[in-house]
Amino acid sequence: NFLDSQRDLSLWVREKLRVYGIKLKKRLSQVILLNEKTLEKIARMLKELSIIHRFSSVIEIGSGPGTLTLYVAKECTNLYIIAIEIDKRFSAILREIQEYFWNVDIIIGDAIQLIDVIRSNVAIGNLPYHITSDILIEIAKHIDIALITVQKDVGMKIISKPGSKSYGKISILLQLLFDIKYVGGIPSKFFRPKPKVDSSILLLVRKRIYDKTIERIEEMTKCLFSYRRKHVYKALKRCIDLEYVDKMLSYMEQNLWRKRVFQLSPKDIEKLVHIYVELKNGERK
Ligand code: SAM
Repeated sequence: NFLDSQRDLSLWVREKLRVYGIKLKKRLSQVILLNEKTLEKIARMLKELSIIHRFSSVIEIGSGPGTLTLYVAKECTNLYIIAIEIDKRFSAILREIQEYFWNVDIIIGDAIQLIDVIRSNVAIGNLPYHITSDILIEIAKHIDIALITVQKDVGMKIISKPGSKSYGKISILLQLLFDIKYVGGIPSKFFRPKPKVDSSILLLVRKRIYDKTIERIEEMTKCLFSYRRKHVYKALKRCIDLEYVDKMLSYMEQNLWRKRVFQLSPKDIEKLVHIYVELKNGERK
């Protein structure tokens, strides 16, 4: 067995990096998760999900030297794994893994451009930190189940509730689209080189598609949140035509107008957008 014969994962990775002359690049967020229990936990969870949600393939975003790839390939023999990695220096190591496991495919390229193209609606990955937001947007558009590791502060943003400091555009977008579960934390010491902050594992399961309404909500949120601490009325006046703002007043509950932007729930913003669109289309007077 590939993993059993490796005995120590960190030794294996260190040896491979040395053999292929790879120095990890900070610029590409190359930190490697080397804790076997955590890797096993993610792989097992993915297997359970594949049984519950009946999927047969998964995209791995940023596979690096293939530590997570290995554990998933071994545990999820029912799954086809498409490992995407931008840095071609890892391809030789990934090919070694691929030779051992029938269910691994490798694509060297940019995940941001590829998520949309590859026909799988499930994603895993320890996301490259410098492009987490862009990847989350791609996930929002194209992925139905995502089991991802993000930096702790990003994880906080994703799950935070209205009124809190970290609540914002990404919380609203993802909370409207997905049921989100905090799976657990990963201390920074489990990575090499050790990053400054801990990470969080999150599970996102789609409850709604990314459509025109969501796009409108995103647009409105973007504008409103540039006035995050202002009262809703004042912020709206800067985001949409005044004539609509005053009309909207009569359709919204009093307590919504008393809120400040950062206290609006995803549903509140959806309501605002809904009424605005109806007024604009002449479906309301
Ligand atoms: N999967 C490994 C793990 O769990 O330890 C490595 C994760 S590391 C945080 C992120 C990986 O994403 C790096 O290997 C990096 O080269 C890769 N990466 C960075 N930008 C990328 C992009 N645009 N598309 C695909 N992979 C990317």
